[in-house]
Amino acid sequence: MPIKGDSWFDEDGKLDFEEIQEDTSWAADMAGVAQRRTTNKLLKQQQKEREAARRSYQALKDCPYCGAKLPKVGVEICMHCRKELAWVERTPCKPGTEGQVRKQLKKSEAIRVQRLRAEKQRELERKEKFQEELAGNVFGWVVALLIYGLGLPFALCLTVYAIVWLVQLL
Ligand SMILES: [Zn+2]
Repeated sequence: MPIKGDSWFDEDGKLDFEEIQEDTSWAADMAGVAQRRTTNKLLKQQQKEREAARRSYQALKDCPYCGAKLPKVGVEICMHCRKELAWVERTPCKPGTEGQVRKQLKKSEAIRVQRLRAEKQRELERKEKFQEELAGNVFGWVVALLIYGLGLPFALCLTVYAIVWLVQLL
């Protein structure tokens, strides 16, 4: 594709192959860039889909008898070992053990909440410490500025005084 001021013909009206090659290779490069961009987009999308599939597979519950993944919450019989299932909320168990499972679930939920609270507390402490350090730094800077601001005029006064004193001596 010839650009303005860029001709595929030389002064004699003959085809300038060097110019043509330059332009076509540029066009090929652009096409390559577009192609790569499309490919990358596709790859990224595939990766996302695989990730989602993996997550939803992990979210599936295990059969309490054979350990195989159950296709969904609430199924009454394991499709792998054909044994009967009971459910406590979203957790499968053997029929008759619901009370035990419920207790276990409550316990792990309590632990989870406790852990969350501890994490929040730590986060809060980190923030407080940071603010304290920041305040300390600001205080340090103010003190430094004050010393500098007061110290300089004081040093000037001393110098003037010393000069006056020296002049008096002469
Ligand atoms: Zn099973």
